[in-house]
Amino acid sequence: MRAVVFAGEGQVRVDEVADPAVKGAGDAIVRVEITAICGSDLHVLDGKTPGMRVGGVIGHEFIGVVEDAGEDAGKLVGRKVLGSFLIACGRCDACRTRRFNHCSEGRALGVGTLFGDLDGAQAEIVRVPDALVNLIPLDGFAGIADEALMFCGDILATGIHAARVAGVAPGEEVAVFGAGPVGLCCSLAARDAGARVTVVDTDAARVEFARVRLGFDGSDAIEDGAVDIAVDAVGAIPALKAAMRAARDAGRVAVVGVYGAERYELPLGRVWNRELDLRFSGMANVQDCWEQALAAVSSGAIDPTPLVTHKLGLDDAPEGYELFRSREAMKVIMRP
Ligand code: NAD
Ligand code: ZN
Repeated sequence: MRAVVFAGEGQVRVDEVADPAVKGAGDAIVRVEITAICGSDLHVLDGKTPGMRVGGVIGHEFIGVVEDAGEDAGKLVGRKVLGSFLIACGRCDACRTRRFNHCSEGRALGVGTLFGDLDGAQAEIVRVPDALVNLIPLDGFAGIADEALMFCGDILATGIHAARVAGVAPGEEVAVFGAGPVGLCCSLAARDAGARVTVVDTDAARVEFARVRLGFDGSDAIEDGAVDIAVDAVGAIPALKAAMRAARDAGRVAVVGVYGAERYELPLGRVWNRELDLRFSGMANVQDCWEQALAAVSSGAIDPTPLVTHKLGLDDAPEGYELFRSREAMKVIMRP
């Protein structure tokens, strides 16, 4: 089959690789119909997420049809499904209490050996382990665009997770720092939860995108103490500091942007005195959020399709990655 593979630091290429096959009783083999490029894929290419093998298949956002399955997942064969980027086991204590993002096996598709060494979904075919947990059938969603449904397995589920972590309530003022795909999905979820949302980004083109395409108020900065909730959807310390300043006294700060080895000395007196409520999202709890995301998309309450700026074939992946990296593209989708 054809697949997008890691070709060494910063590089992808489209290669001919072996078709995946059923290995375990819970596996499903999915023929991919639509996939996308995500910011996390850039972290893999650039080594912020270490452990990708050269030749390993990248990608984790997809919709497809199940062609084959192990004995436990047989009921999925022939059905159209959405995949989760996080691969949970469904059996550990965390999964049993629906904290799938804290699954003891800690796996994700297409991000290398530190996350279960699973090949990814920017491919004609992908193998999904524990498929009853990590695929959701789309039987009920005929007539809804795949481009919208696909985001429910990753960035829109992340947005809904963020709104839950932040405890967004109707009528609240929310500032979302970062108008990338993730920040915009956080904004869509907060608006759907009844908040008034301002999108803040240092890149004027991104602010403009949020205003024109999605109808948000947008700005390159916001007054101190202006909002009930500030969301860091950037994953960089200047944005976290700006979010802490933007939250009102006794307000909430929700950190969705990913942090790795960064360190930051928290001004404890100020945070304590201001009664700031700092909340960290961890990885999105996709499997606990995707039904809500699918319901919001299918009712029209949330429409993420304006995020899609480029539609390519899988063979055009290197060009797609360039468009995405240069920020000319907000979201690139590919069809094998
Ligand atoms: P992106 O790079 O496309 O967008 C980030 C945006 O932040 C850019 O538009 C940039 O101009 C803006 N920005 C940079 N510094 C800023 C500042 N100081 N103030 C305001 N805006 C600033 O990234 P993305 O794909 O949207 O992802 C955003 C973050 O979310 C990343 O850290 C990503 O790893 C993380 N993420 C988290 C999860 C999760 O499960 N928690 C899932 C996916 C992605
Ligand atoms: Zn992703």
